[in-house]
Amino acid sequence: MSRILDMRGDWAAQPTDAMRQAMASAVVGDDVTHEDPTVIELEERSAELLGKEAGLFVPSGTMGNLVSILALAPYGSEVIAGDQSHAVIYEVGGYAVIGGHPMRTAPNDRFGMMDPEFVQSLIRPGGNIHFPKTGLLLLENSHNVRGGCVMNVEQTRTLCDVAHNAGVPVHLDGSRLFNAAAALGIPARELVADLDTITFCLSKGLAAPVGSMVVGTQEQIDRARGARKLLGGGMRQAGVLAAAGLVAIDQMIDRLSEDHENARKLAHGLADIPGFNVDMETVQTNLVFADLDGEKSADEIGAALEEHGIRTSVFGADRIRFALHYQISSSDIDRVINSVRQLV
Ligand SMILES: *Cc1c(COP(=O)(O)O)cnc(C)c1O
Repeated sequence: MSRILDMRGDWAAQPTDAMRQAMASAVVGDDVTHEDPTVIELEERSAELLGKEAGLFVPSGTMGNLVSILALAPYGSEVIAGDQSHAVIYEVGGYAVIGGHPMRTAPNDRFGMMDPEFVQSLIRPGGNIHFPKTGLLLLENSHNVRGGCVMNVEQTRTLCDVAHNAGVPVHLDGSRLFNAAAALGIPARELVADLDTITFCLSKGLAAPVGSMVVGTQEQIDRARGARKLLGGGMRQAGVLAAAGLVAIDQMIDRLSEDHENARKLAHGLADIPGFNVDMETVQTNLVFADLDGEKSADEIGAALEEHGIRTSVFGADRIRFALHYQISSSDIDRVINSVRQLV
């Protein structure tokens, strides 16, 4: 049996040997009292990388988004986000359940973009007894559900301006921020210059076993740190995990464009197969969504691929997702395309 290709998500990427070695020899301390030197180094490096004042290590991207919402939006204020955003769909409604924030959504188009004029129309400044006041605008880049599409600097700035002109802060769910920056060919710090707080994941395509970072001003991060404790995310010798995060930042960012090349190769290969449709314009980073209009359902194709040792994610009745990461090589893509051909 050949090696299993886990393409369900880039989160399936397992820690590299360098990460495992760094974890084994990490210098640690108590991170709840902010004494873990490796966590402190990771937080400082992350902030520096994105041109912000301070950083916070959190166990997950979900917690990163939630502590940012808690840090930026006053209790009871309304959050505006894209209707297809991860925070709205996949984070158990934490913004409402824990944060006490109602949510208003703007449609995400095929590329994950929101119409700035529509966002503007959703903002409510307060002062009307019927309305919650808008507390936060939440963006996502790259856009998970919209196939890993990228929002460029100008699009980001336009949406930030709409919010900031109304005194509303902006948080970026940048779980795959470095994929977006690589696709645009710019340093990530340029892409986040207009944003207030940013979450990015160490545990997606960067392959760390656990963890995400939040960056922002010192004051915002102090509040986020309090929120992390409230949520039970204060960890003790977390430097063991942060050590892998440092390797992720040092060694895994610059290679992301390889995943993007492999994604394009896979997308072209799949698009040539009858019954498989790929919206090529949306293949911008490391995710490939295929829409099926053949005899077999996505569930059936997913199960059949699983028998070939290829794991994918099924999105609804006729959509299937392949995620690229460092453990999926160009020759693996040939194998995936051959397997799909055999199935249909
Ligand atoms: C994965 C992901 C998250 C959440 O990260 P977890 O570490 O799984 O909690 C948030 N936003 C986006 C866009 C993601 O892809």
